[in-house]
Amino acid sequence: MSGLRAELAGARHARRTIGLVPTMGAFHDGHLSLIARAREQCEVVVVSLFVNPAQFNHRADLDAYPRDEQRDQELARAAGVDFVFAPPVAEVYPDGFSTSVSVAGPTDGLEGEHRGRGHFDGVTTVVAKLLNIVGPDVAYFGRKDAQQVAVVTRMARDLDLPVRIEICPTIRASDGLALSSRNVRLSPVQRRRATALNLALETVRQAILDGERDGPAAVRAGLAVLSAAGVQAEYLELVSPHEFKPVRRVEGDVLAVVAAYLGETRLIDNALIDAVPAAARGRTDEVPEEALT
Ligand code: AMP
Repeated sequence: MSGLRAELAGARHARRTIGLVPTMGAFHDGHLSLIARAREQCEVVVVSLFVNPAQFNHRADLDAYPRDEQRDQELARAAGVDFVFAPPVAEVYPDGFSTSVSVAGPTDGLEGEHRGRGHFDGVTTVVAKLLNIVGPDVAYFGRKDAQQVAVVTRMARDLDLPVRIEICPTIRASDGLALSSRNVRLSPVQRRRATALNLALETVRQAILDGERDGPAAVRAGLAVLSAAGVQAEYLELVSPHEFKPVRRVEGDVLAVVAAYLGETRLIDNALIDAVPAAARGRTDEVPEEALT
């Protein structure tokens, strides 16, 4: 770690902008889109590859998590990444490690509830470490993990971390499935069924755009899509985009969030829904990128 810090010292001294893309590896086009944005905006791009044991609530999920560091290294090089930081677990969590960064509020419910409180503590602790090691001007996160974005943004704000958190759009396969490293674990049948997650979110969106203002009713329409596809939702909910509080009555922008198991593989997805059409607000622009922060 001190090695990377030393290597970046020159760049920092020369006031070159540094972008960090934290990942768990097994790259897909979602990761590459974050890297491309960092490459566009920053003079030095650092990508971290670290399958963080602290954020897994099931040992089996950690063990089965896809890993291909050599391929990731090659893709990173081809994408113009300057530094790939892939520390061993013992370097990140040496003997005696006993500190945790914990965010309250947006960690309640959804992923925080279903993956356990420790999940987000694991995320925020490792992200805080990565930010300290790299000292980036900008750190890039995907909207695909919407609650993670809200939690990391809150941590950066609450701790006055000198970094801008940039949120990047979700990259999807042509049939709408959000790209995820876990998708490679799906059987062909599960892969087809998995499209129901996005379809359910779009059904919720359509219900709201058609005028449904009762949150649970809009959610029921989405649940029907999932069950027709034989997919059991762990949750499908409407929440406020900033606080991640349940929304019963739709009055402004809402975030539809879903988690479901396809066999052993757990997938998540979300859709930001602009409940009030732009024309009715007297403006024509779209929901701003920062809407989730
Ligand atoms: P992961 O390796 O799954 O921890 O993801 C690393 C980063 O890539 C996180 O900020 C994710 O939100 C982001 N990411 C994952 N999947 C996608 C996707 N389909 N589109 C955009 N960003 C993504």
